[in-house]
Amino acid sequence: MKRYRLRPLATSRILAGERLVKLDDFEQTDQAETLAEGMVIALTDAKRQLNAKALVGRQNKGLAWVFTLDMNEYWDEEFITYTFEEALAKRKDLLAEYQTATTAFRIFNGEGDGIGGLTADYYDGFVQFNWYSEGIYEYREWFVEALLSLMPSIKGVYETKRFKVSKDEAAISHTKGELAPQPLIVKENDIQYAVYLGEDWMTGIFLDQREVRSFVQTQAQDLSVLNLFSYTGAFSVAAAVGGAKRTVSIDVANRSIDKTKEQFALNGIEGEPPHHEIRVMDVFDYINYAKRHALQFDMIVCDPPSFARTKKRTFSAEKDYTKLAQDLFDITAPNGLCILSTNHSGYKKEAFIKEMSKVGSSHSGHFQLIQSFGLPSDFPTSQDSESQYLKVLIFYRNN
Ligand code: SAH
Repeated sequence: MKRYRLRPLATSRILAGERLVKLDDFEQTDQAETLAEGMVIALTDAKRQLNAKALVGRQNKGLAWVFTLDMNEYWDEEFITYTFEEALAKRKDLLAEYQTATTAFRIFNGEGDGIGGLTADYYDGFVQFNWYSEGIYEYREWFVEALLSLMPSIKGVYETKRFKVSKDEAAISHTKGELAPQPLIVKENDIQYAVYLGEDWMTGIFLDQREVRSFVQTQAQDLSVLNLFSYTGAFSVAAAVGGAKRTVSIDVANRSIDKTKEQFALNGIEGEPPHHEIRVMDVFDYINYAKRHALQFDMIVCDPPSFARTKKRTFSAEKDYTKLAQDLFDITAPNGLCILSTNHSGYKKEAFIKEMSKVGSSHSGHFQLIQSFGLPSDFPTSQDSESQYLKVLIFYRNN
C-alpha cells in the first residue's frame, strides 16, 4: 500500500480525532489529485508520528476519510462488520425489542461511527443507506451484507446516492428485499409519522431533531405554537400531541399542506383551523404579517435550511439569523419560548450562542438562553467540525 505524507497541521488534527482528509492536507497535492476513488491509502508525516489508513472518496467536504490509526487493521468485510457491530451496540437502547415507542432512528452515522462517507437510517424494519462518494459506494455490498447479517429482521433496503451520477442512473432507489408501504408509518416517542422511502431526498422526518420534538411535546400544553419552515409539520404534530391549543405551520412548499394534514390525521388530531393552521407562504412574509397584526405566540420553533432561496429573497443562516431572531423575539409572547435551530456546519456553536444571546439580552423582552440541544446519541460525531452540525437554542422571554 502506498504511503502519502501529510502536512504537520493535518497530522495533528487527525491525531486529535478528526477524520477528514482534504486535498491541501497532503504534502504533494499533485499526487493526491490523481488518487482513484475507492482506493485505500496509508498516511504518515515527516516525523512518522502518524500511521493511519484512509479510503479515497471525494465529496464536497474533502478527499478521503481516515478509518483507522492501526496499521494492522485492513479495509475488508470483517472490518466493516465489526464497525457496524459497534455502531449497533451504541444504539442498543433504541434497538431493544421492548422499545416500541420509537421505531425510526439513525443506525450508522459516518465518521462518528468510524467510517466517513455513508449514513444509514432505520425506519421500522427498513433501512436507507445514504452514500456520499463514488469511492465508498464501490463497497456497498459489504456494508449491506454486514448490516443484514447483524440485523436479519430488516425487510427491505433503500439507498440515496449523494454524489454525481450519470443521467440514466437513479439517485434514489429501492435495492433489496421488500418494498416499504407508502407511507410507512414510524413512531417516535409514541407519535406517528408518515415516511416515504425511495421517493425524495427527504423522507418526511428529520431524525436528528428527535430530542427537540420531545422537548416541544413536553412543554406545549395549552400554548399557541408557531412552526416556521415546517416541512411536514413534525414539530406542529409534536406540539399538538403535547396539548398545544393552537399551531400555525408555515412553509413555502405546496406539498407541506397535504403532508402536514397527513401527520395530524395519523395521530387522531383534526388538522384544521381554527386550532391547526397550515399556510403555504414565505416565512419572512408571514413574520411581517404577524408584526403588522401584533400577533404573538407562546412558543416559536424556527428550523430553517442553511441556505434558502425563494423568488423574493435569499436566506443564509450565518448572515441572516441575527435579523430573523430579532423578528422572532418580537412575536414571542411574554413568558414564551423561542426555539432557534441551525444545521449549518459552518456556523459554529459558540458564534451561534453568542450572537443569538446578544440579540436576546438587548431585546425589551430580556430573553434568556435556558437550554440547548445538539445531535442525539444515535448521531455520534468525530472531532471534525463538519460532523457536529446541529445547534438548537431555547430562549425564554422574561417580560
Ligand atoms: N423544520 C422541518 C424541516 C425544515 S426543511 C422539520 O422539522 O421537519 C426546510 C423547509 O424550509 C423546506 O420544507 C422548505 O420548503 C422550507 N423553506 C425554505 N425557505 C423558505 C421560506 N423562505 N419560507 C418558508 N419556507 C421555506
